[in-house]
Amino acid sequence: MYSNKGAILIIYTGGTIGMIKDHKTNTLKPFDFSEIEKKVPEIKGFGYNIASVSLYPLVDSSNINIKSWIKIAKIIELNYSKYDGFVVLHGTDTMAYSASALSFMLENLEKPVIFTGSQLPIGTLRTDGKENLITAIEIAAAKLNGTSIVPEVCIYFENKLYRGNRTTKQSSKHFNAFISDNYPPLALAGINIDYNFSAIFYPSKKNKLKVNTVFNDNVLIIKLFPGFTENYFSEILQLPKLKGIILETFGSGNAPTIKWFIKILKKAIDNEIIVLNITQCDTGGTDMGKYETSRELLNIGVTNGADMTTEAALTKLMYLIGKKLPYSELKNELQHSIRGEMS
Ligand code: ASP
Repeated sequence: MYSNKGAILIIYTGGTIGMIKDHKTNTLKPFDFSEIEKKVPEIKGFGYNIASVSLYPLVDSSNINIKSWIKIAKIIELNYSKYDGFVVLHGTDTMAYSASALSFMLENLEKPVIFTGSQLPIGTLRTDGKENLITAIEIAAAKLNGTSIVPEVCIYFENKLYRGNRTTKQSSKHFNAFISDNYPPLALAGINIDYNFSAIFYPSKKNKLKVNTVFNDNVLIIKLFPGFTENYFSEILQLPKLKGIILETFGSGNAPTIKWFIKILKKAIDNEIIVLNITQCDTGGTDMGKYETSRELLNIGVTNGADMTTEAALTKLMYLIGKKLPYSELKNELQHSIRGEMS
């Protein structure tokens, strides 16, 4: 039997969902959660015990950073035993980064953490925020035989529930702002909410929630393009504190075969800098060794990012470097799924 009553904590960080036009500057700025509650009186009628906490200052998600992730994680840790699930209201611009980061931070998670937001502010007539918020609450509270149906960090948006670390923002104008091309939705919301039980991760053992808050931010994303130059590439890879780069390569993990390129990468890897190869494509992943243009990458010790999104790869790299693992172990962990972020 589905049980629909529960206690939910809404963590409000900002984003378009709670924004209003500032007529002086003609820009959108976040407003208080009490205003959201006024605009969505339905959440009071749900029968759930709903509480909220806001991050101050409320931000456009372009201003989200590691400190914000730590604040969100600590709020969840502090309130973990009191609530059945958590809804994080967040701007869409960096939501996929935050959901990915939180998935790595929250080890042994047994309760839903559902990120949502909207493309139009909740006060506007055609807002997508109401449906997103109401359904996210319902999913965060949903249980089957006393246990949460989706004990994962997810993004709910425009009728679909996704594993957070599989998503990417794909549109700045359509209501379906997110895609998860390499992993199926965990649920579809229509007249009913249909859960895709075989795609949801259920922990085999019950362990106490562990919150990891150490990230190392000495990392960079480098997107290859035809015509990039040796001197820029070489300078970047010699930056003093650099610990790792996400190398966004072409197609199935391919890159130029030119000698200087391989030499610069090899030197970095010999200096224990991680070079994590992911594709620039939305769908599919890296397959190093398939083409001649990726064989040398494999030979010099480039790390295989498989089908991870940029957001998952980056936050996983920051999180694992933060653990101060020996280089070979770090490389090994990066190539294995730790929160369902890669196939
Ligand atoms: N700029 C906004 C933000 O990310 C966009 C949104 O929420 O959709 O905070």
